[in-house]
Amino acid sequence: MYDPKSMKAEEFISHEEILSTLQYAEENKNNLALVDEVLQKAEKRKGLTHREASLLLACEDPERLQRLYALARQIKEDFYGNRIVMFAPLYLSNYCVNGCVYCPYHLKNKHIARKKLTQEEIVREVTALQDMGHKRLAIEAGEDPVNNPIEYILECIHTIYSIKHKNGAIRRVNVNIAATTVENYRKLKEAGIGTYILFQETYHKESYESLHPTGPKHNYAYHTEAMDRAMEGGIDDVGLGVLFGLELYKYEFAGLLMHAEHLEAVHGVGPHTISVPRLKRADDIDPDAFDNGIDDEIFAKLCACIRVAVPYTGMIISTRESKAVREKVLPLGVSQISGASRTSVGGYCEPEPEEENSQQFDVSDKRTLDEVVRWLMELGYIPSFCTACYREGRTGDRFMTLLKNGQILNCCHPNALMTLKEFLMDYASPETKRLGEEMISRELEKIPGEKVKQIAKERLEKIENGIRDFRF
Ligand code: SAM
Repeated sequence: MYDPKSMKAEEFISHEEILSTLQYAEENKNNLALVDEVLQKAEKRKGLTHREASLLLACEDPERLQRLYALARQIKEDFYGNRIVMFAPLYLSNYCVNGCVYCPYHLKNKHIARKKLTQEEIVREVTALQDMGHKRLAIEAGEDPVNNPIEYILECIHTIYSIKHKNGAIRRVNVNIAATTVENYRKLKEAGIGTYILFQETYHKESYESLHPTGPKHNYAYHTEAMDRAMEGGIDDVGLGVLFGLELYKYEFAGLLMHAEHLEAVHGVGPHTISVPRLKRADDIDPDAFDNGIDDEIFAKLCACIRVAVPYTGMIISTRESKAVREKVLPLGVSQISGASRTSVGGYCEPEPEEENSQQFDVSDKRTLDEVVRWLMELGYIPSFCTACYREGRTGDRFMTLLKNGQILNCCHPNALMTLKEFLMDYASPETKRLGEEMISRELEKIPGEKVKQIAKERLEKIENGIRDFRF
C-alpha cells in the first residue's frame, strides 16, 4: 500500500508503486502531448511528482530533452545563480562491521589498512584543510559501535569546530554516518552539525538486502526510515542520495523522489540536498562487477530531471566525477561540489604509502582546491565558502522560504562574494586572486538591494583589512 505519509519504509517507498510508475513512464514516453504537459508543469518551477518526473526520465525525444536541459539550466540559474558551494570530506575512521559488497570498508576486507583518527590527528587533518581554504566539511565514518561510537563522532565534531589556525576555521560540519537512533541524532544536532547525510544506496529492498548481507546496515527499514528519526531528533537539513550503479537508475530515481515526497508530506520540508554518487573502483571493489552502471549521458539526464523535479533541493557532485563530467553537469543544477578530496583516513596530512591504502574509492578529480576554484571562475561560477544559513538558523523550511521568496540575491550572493574574498586573501595563488577580484567587482553589481550592496562593499574592504567571517 503506497502511502507517502506512512512512517513505514515499505509503504512510503512502495515497490509496487515504483513498478507501476516505471510502467506508466515506459508506456507513455512517446506520448509527446503528455510529456509536453509535464514540461509545462515543470516550467512553473514548483517541482514534479515521481510519476511526472519518471516520464521525463524515460522520454527520448530529442526536442523534449533539449527543453528539459534548458529548463534545468534556467532553474539552476534562477534558484542558485552562478554560485557553487565548496566542501571537502573528512574520513574519520574506516573501521566497519557491515558487509556492503560495493564498499572496501566491508568487514571481510582483511587487506585494507584500518585507521581511526585520534583527536591530535584530527587537528592535523583539519589544519591541512584550513590551509587549503576549506570552511565546510562532511565527516565520514564506517559503522562500528565499538571503534566509532557516537561519543567518538561527537568528540571529533567538537575538536573540528575548536581548531582556529591562522585565519582558518571550519564553520559547518555535515555528517555522513550510518543510520542511528533519535537520541543520537539529537546529540548530533546539539553538537552543531549542518546537514545529516545518508545515502540510501538502493531503494530496491531485495537488492538492498543482498548488497548489505551482514551487519546492522542489512536492515532496510531501519536505514530507510533514518531521515524520519533524524528529523524527530531535531535535524531538519537532511541529505539523500543513491549510489548509482547498484540497481536500475529509473527505479532509484522514482524511489529518491518518493523519499523526498515522504519527507515533505510528513515533516513539511523536503531534503536539503541530493547527492548523485556513482560506483567507483576501490581496493577490492571492481565497479564492472555490477550490472547497472550508467554512462555520462544518462548521468546528465538524471541530474537535469532531479533539478526540475525538486528545484528547492541542492545537488551535490563529489570528486568521484572527473573534471569533464563535472563541467557537463554543473549547469544542469549542481549547487555544491567537493574539491581536493582525499578519501583515505588521514589523507590530507601526508600521502599514504601504497601498502597502507585506506581509501574508500578512487577519486577522479585530483586537482588542488586553488585549481578547482580557478576553474569554476573561468567557467563563470562563483566558488562560495558560505556557511551562513544554518549559523543564522535558516535551516529546514526557513531555508526553503528564503529560496522561495527570491531573497537569495540579497543574501547568498553577497555571502558568496565575501567568503570568496576571504579565500583570495588567505589562500589563493596570484592568478586565482586576480580572476577572483575581477569576479567580485563584476558580481557585486548583481545585488539588487542598494543597502545590502553598500554593506557588502564595506565588508569586503574590512576583509581586505584582515577582519573575517561576515554574513548576511
Ligand atoms: N558508513 C556510512 C553509511 O553506512 O552510510 C556512510 C559513510 S560512507 C563513507 C559514504 C558513502 O560512500 C556510502 O554511503 C556509499 O554510497 C559510498 N561508497 C561506498 N563505496 C563506494 C564505491 N566503491 N564507490 C563510490 N562510492 C562508494
